Amino acid sequence: MTGGSRGIGRAIATELAKTHDVIATYRGRRDAAESLRDQTGCEIFQCDVASRERRAALIAFARERFQKLDVLVNNAGMGPRERRDLLETTEESFDELISTNLKGPHFLTQHAARWMADSGDGRIVFVTSISSYAASVNRGEYCISKAGLSMSAALYAQRLAEIGVKVFEIRPGIIRTDMIAKVEKIYDEKIAAGLLPQRRMGEGSDVAKAVRAIADGLLDYSTGQVLNVDGGFSLRSL
Ligand code: NDP
Repeated sequence: MTGGSRGIGRAIATELAKTHDVIATYRGRRDAAESLRDQTGCEIFQCDVASRERRAALIAFARERFQKLDVLVNNAGMGPRERRDLLETTEESFDELISTNLKGPHFLTQHAARWMADSGDGRIVFVTSISSYAASVNRGEYCISKAGLSMSAALYAQRLAEIGVKVFEIRPGIIRTDMIAKVEKIYDEKIAAGLLPQRRMGEGSDVAKAVRAIADGLLDYSTGQVLNVDGGFSLRSL
């Protein structure tokens, strides 16, 4: 699984390690990854998902250890380094987010899918976001990257069904992690004012429970489904 060192990914890695041999990747926070390894027994591997070479190295590392890949969780992702209005977005930030949040997981999944095809089995999870469909004009490049990732999940679900590989998209809402630390107070206020039908911010463990259901095969006849883990954000009301 990617991005296991912190936040949602750490919760997922911790949950999966109860039943699986897990390789958890990180980008720069080796300290956080080492503490995950010490707490859970996960193996850790440095991999910037935006790097073609590191993606190939990750798959080679996993193939050396395991004959079969049961689950891939595409979790690693980032927000823009600086939130900027749509009219001020830089091409550099756009490129960075597309490479990290879309191109990286899309092509890592291509590697994984080829491997899973050997056994005719496997489950793949894409962690996207409510930003796949909710427009935030102060981080448009993030929204575009996640909207693209939702399509990547749908494409792989369609393509891999015939070879027995199940693909799922998890769309978290507002989850308390480092990623939203700077805007946590604003979100807490919005939630208290009624933004979410379930009036609390999500935790990484909320997302990890959805991954648990997928990894245990409870949703195996539902390939391509989107699981909204968002406290009801996606519900409409009148
Ligand atoms: P965090 O910033 O808390 O953690 C990000 C994780 O991804 C870290 O493990 C980090 O590694 C890793 N990572 C970041 N960039 C890369 C990269 N280029 N290559 C490999 N690993 C990388 O984020 P969250 O836990 O909040 O987010 C996890 C996923 O959930 C993301 O895809 C995010 O878009 C999505 N999400 C988050 C929501 C939220 O409210 N928090 C809501 C909806 C979706 P390192 O520790 O080494 O930096």
